[in-house]
Amino acid sequence: MGLSVKDCFAFTMFGDLFEEDFSFISNNHCGKGKKLKPRDSEPPAPRDFTNLSGIKNQGGTCYLNSLLQTLLFTPEFREALFSLGPEELGILDDSSKPDAKVRIIPLQLQRLFAQLLLLDQQAASTTDLTDSFGWNSNEEMRQHDVQELNRILFSALETSLVGTSGHDLINRLYHGIVVNQIVCKECKNISERQEDFLDLTVAVKGVAGLEEAMWNMYVEEEYFENDNLYRCGACDKLVEASKSAKLRKLPPFLTISLLRFNFDFEKCERYKETSCYTFPIQINLRPFCEQTEMDDSEYMYELFSVIIHKGGCYGGHYHVYIRDVDELGNWQLQEEEDRLIEDKALRDTENAKEEENPLAVLKGILSEEESKQIPVDQLGQKLLEKKGVSWNKKYRKEYGALRKYLQNHPQIFQFSPDENKVGLKEKHKLLFQSDSQGQGCQSPPQKNDVQWNSEKKPTRLWDSSAGCHWFDLNDSKVQPIKEKDIEKQFQGKESAYMLFYRKSQLKRPPEARGNPRYQIPERLLNEMNAANTELQKKRAECDSANHGIDLHLHLSSCYEFNNGALHPSLTWKEGVVDLTIDRRKTLGDLRQSVFQMLESWEGDMILSIAKPLPAGLHLYEILDGDELTLDGIGLADGADIFVWNGKEVGGTKVMAGPDHEPVVINVLRLAEYNEGGKGQHFTESQHVFSCSTKLGDLCRALAPSGGIILKNVSGPDKEAKNWEVFLEEDMKETVKNVGLMDRCSVLILDSHDQSFVDVSSGNLTAFTYDISWLQVKNFCRTEDEEKYVKITATVETVMSDIRMKAIQELQLDKELANDTCLRPVSGNGKLLSPVPEDYTVKEAELKMGSLLGLCRGKAPASTQLFLYFIVGSDQNASPEMEIVVEETASVKECLNLMLEKSGLSGDNWHLRRMDWCYEAGEALSQENATLKELNVCRGDTLVITEGKLPPKGFLKIPIWWFKSSNLMKHGGNARDLVNGMTCKMDALQVSPGGDSPEYFHTDMDLCYAGSIEIAGEASLEDLKMQYVLIWHLLICHVQWL
Ligand SMILES: [Zn+2]
Repeated sequence: MGLSVKDCFAFTMFGDLFEEDFSFISNNHCGKGKKLKPRDSEPPAPRDFTNLSGIKNQGGTCYLNSLLQTLLFTPEFREALFSLGPEELGILDDSSKPDAKVRIIPLQLQRLFAQLLLLDQQAASTTDLTDSFGWNSNEEMRQHDVQELNRILFSALETSLVGTSGHDLINRLYHGIVVNQIVCKECKNISERQEDFLDLTVAVKGVAGLEEAMWNMYVEEEYFENDNLYRCGACDKLVEASKSAKLRKLPPFLTISLLRFNFDFEKCERYKETSCYTFPIQINLRPFCEQTEMDDSEYMYELFSVIIHKGGCYGGHYHVYIRDVDELGNWQLQEEEDRLIEDKALRDTENAKEEENPLAVLKGILSEEESKQIPVDQLGQKLLEKKGVSWNKKYRKEYGALRKYLQNHPQIFQFSPDENKVGLKEKHKLLFQSDSQGQGCQSPPQKNDVQWNSEKKPTRLWDSSAGCHWFDLNDSKVQPIKEKDIEKQFQGKESAYMLFYRKSQLKRPPEARGNPRYQIPERLLNEMNAANTELQKKRAECDSANHGIDLHLHLSSCYEFNNGALHPSLTWKEGVVDLTIDRRKTLGDLRQSVFQMLESWEGDMILSIAKPLPAGLHLYEILDGDELTLDGIGLADGADIFVWNGKEVGGTKVMAGPDHEPVVINVLRLAEYNEGGKGQHFTESQHVFSCSTKLGDLCRALAPSGGIILKNVSGPDKEAKNWEVFLEEDMKETVKNVGLMDRCSVLILDSHDQSFVDVSSGNLTAFTYDISWLQVKNFCRTEDEEKYVKITATVETVMSDIRMKAIQELQLDKELANDTCLRPVSGNGKLLSPVPEDYTVKEAELKMGSLLGLCRGKAPASTQLFLYFIVGSDQNASPEMEIVVEETASVKECLNLMLEKSGLSGDNWHLRRMDWCYEAGEALSQENATLKELNVCRGDTLVITEGKLPPKGFLKIPIWWFKSSNLMKHGGNARDLVNGMTCKMDALQVSPGGDSPEYFHTDMDLCYAGSIEIAGEASLEDLKMQYVLIWHLLICHVQWL
């Protein structure tokens, strides 16, 4: 039963048993998962609500971490360590000096402890410490078992403290003595052998718990008898004897290692004992001691640390449950939080029906009780008295039985140990002092009558009193647990592996309570203060970096409003000031900062959200509500803010908001000249409109002369030639509503371009000049829907082919082929003269893409003329009519046909040409000449004019009678008179038609005497004869008057 044998056994058997199971680690606290996104710049996280520091796992060091935390929470150990000053240990800064004596291990342990106690970080690093052990690789770290490590660490410490006042530190705290005795039955001689220990290793296999194992080791005796006799030195012979072991000296701190790991010799494999193995919170060691006559308090020990192994025997993970003896951590908070949550839920319901809430009602009753706890029955009675109704009647149906209900709210109600009485928990009633507190940690130990029973409950109430704050320290993670949680570690894959007890007599000074700085030397306090200051600074920097947003302030003084948007009057850079501000600050803070930046600002300052749009900077909502945070108003990093007076910029009123967003529209027009025939056939320009502009206004601005506007429905991609005409009803809509957005294209067509557009379908068929087709519109039946077809053609295509194709594509009656013609349609919709069937497109002088009308009537042959004619020269009074005549027809024949067509009769008509100002011009006086001879062309307009033309060869000559009373008186001047009269006669219109000229008065008395018709071949003598004849008639007539 010698411990050394067991130790040896354990060591050789389990030398490298405890490698970490990394598959487990990777998704747990030991893991390296967090290293996936290393952010060196970011300071370590601060402690969480427990206010205790964890220790980082550095790759399989969780057992080390568990042990270090245990030592830290052994206040007597850490204080003894802290008491060693630099005069004994040296200082770490000197460690590189060759002749300096620096005891690195205790110094590193001191520093680590100081960090764990004071440095505001979630987890400390042990790298420096393990370096001081000489462990340079994970391999070296992982090859240790926690029990082994305990010894290695103690041994290393002891070695490094040799020659200092701390040389006996380990011994003082952990050294115990076991005495092994063999008593000879014959001579009663006692053979004794003493053994030192720093920890006890106890069996797990086949034992129910710690007490039973101790009983087996230190109470039961072993007998040498029969064939197994003992050789007594005194008797010098084999004798019967009894063998026993006792604890001769108890250390202040008793460390117990459980032999969870065993070797199955049959299967030849290691295994982990997972059976239930209990251990008490308090243990009385008197039965196991050699001397038993001292006061009970000398034998009482209290559990304060449980190192737990989770996993199998080939690997796993360690963590530790530790009692925070000095109450350094914040253990209440978790329950406090639960309570706050509960209270909130309670308040919520209380608001609705405070009277009805059973929780509120019961709390009310209990808080009024003078005695801290009352029997549950009595509580029911008091409820009936107060509310006039019993629990069962009012609440049972909804909330269940009263006792059950109380049990279901352990945060509020506390039962007495026998569960017959109930009271409010401390937090719910400050005056309430638990009865159980007195029996807590300081409760007198139960007399140990050695009845080891695994089911036996410890005398102390679990989980009930102050000073019993347990935490689960799991590498970086620290969380409060209930004392009762320790029972979970009695058995299973995750179970207790090492137990640490402290002598109950060891009392802590009141100054130490809740004071992590207690007994820490000044130099370490200073070091930690400085480190914390540095951490705070880094966190503040990091914090503001994380919360800082950059805002771009655009100053109105550097902007001007033109072309629908704001533009910087200088360069963009000069008008913008960048400001970094914490997003948690308020708008008021921002305004203050802006005021400070712009010292010379006068008057109102309005901050508006701005956005750079393609058209320029546009303003949106005004930032309002100075008490709101920037985060709250949704101000994002990189936001643009315009600083102005809220009304105008540079004297121009600025309209803000989404309704006034400026839109850049790409305006295309057909190019007038298409040089080279390829490439771009349009010009392009950008125009800015407010999105609230009416489309009609936009049209008037872009196409003032009544052109039409098309949008590209396929979006800004102008390659897709999918154009659509805006409908008339669109004109009242806004630019936004018709879907015109930034960089949308519109195409403006002037009136002469519109033959490119099929208006009925609204499609632009093409907008280039290299079109190879003509459009044909059906004009045959007016009542029909006007239909268009596109007929492919080249300049050599003959008109008749186009017409036949059009009839086919328009799906018209084939008979129409014999009675139709194609007539070009002018820009203003007039049907022009039909094109001869045998003309090519080129001969007909048709532009590609132009519009032709398919009309009733035969097209004139190439020997025929298509003519328009009207009656009289007033076009408005007489409709224009059309006629086809042979070009060889005479003027007379043509006149007759026209008269026939217009329903006129008689021979008092003649034909004239239409002159350039649409008036009757030159008369076609040669009645028998052919139209071709007179150069009458296709499409000419002739005018039927009233009046007869003189017979062929006759001229109609007007005769003017000149009478002058002075003629005889001034005979010498006759020549002058004739000359003057000749000039006047020249001024008179003498036309072949011989119209009666108006009589006009001059200073010479001229009198129209009628006209003489005379053959063109007649001589001047003949004319004179006629003249004299008239003259005589006139004289006589005058005389008779
Ligand atoms: Zn003997």
